[in-house]
Amino acid sequence: MSACARLRFYAELNDFLPPPQRQQPLCCRFEPPAPVRHLIETYGVPHSEVELVLVNGASVGLEQAVQDGDRISVYPMFEGLDIRPLLRLRARPLRRIRFVADAHLGRLARQLRMLGFDTLFRNAWPDPELARISARSGRILLTRDRALLMRREITHGCFVRPQRPAEQLAALIRRLDLCAEIRPFSRCMVCNALVVGVSKEAVRAALPPRAAAVQERFHRCTGCAKVYWEGSHYRAMQQRIAGLCEGASMAGQRRSDHPQKRN
Ligand SMILES: [Zn+2]
Repeated sequence: MSACARLRFYAELNDFLPPPQRQQPLCCRFEPPAPVRHLIETYGVPHSEVELVLVNGASVGLEQAVQDGDRISVYPMFEGLDIRPLLRLRARPLRRIRFVADAHLGRLARQLRMLGFDTLFRNAWPDPELARISARSGRILLTRDRALLMRREITHGCFVRPQRPAEQLAALIRRLDLCAEIRPFSRCMVCNALVVGVSKEAVRAALPPRAAAVQERFHRCTGCAKVYWEGSHYRAMQQRIAGLCEGASMAGQRRSDHPQKRN
């Protein structure tokens, strides 16, 4: 390896590095010509987590060739800082927010569906299939597998940092600023299809006696026919959403025609 670039990762991108390499310039040895994407991923940082790359102070794309002696600054998604004058790696955010989750994130996938997000999930999808679905249908790939996010075809991926499902949902809502997009209880947690309002008579045969006695508003999945109503689970989830999005505008709070508790 004949060349050395000075590489520095900023903010939470340091979490991907071993502790001795964090928060400091690193001499990255490489054989030119090499794209900056290659140098970044040498350190185990998936390109999907990177929002802006500066080479000698100028913003560049991931395929920019690096030269000996270049100074490279690598930044994650910005929340408070306006970088519009600079070049973001992805030309634009996805117009519709949709997800595909890997096999280890089933609970997160169900929670996202409950908030109304179109989220594909299946236990059996191998990595190439997940990457293909994400790239072809414009879905944000959710995973805790860095190698999966390093696949070149991935343009919109999200490394899910927390290990506990409850924290995963909160972290994702913060990172992707999802509160305004939440449509609670508009989608089936089981199969991801939309749910629609139905009369009590239409679903009476599927109801347990207590729900049939005390509930008046029902919804049914257009995919798997599962019936939902407003029970204690519904109210608990409403409170949780309100807590997650405190202070943020949330479309779903203004709507009252959503379903509900899982059957
Ligand atoms: Zn369903």
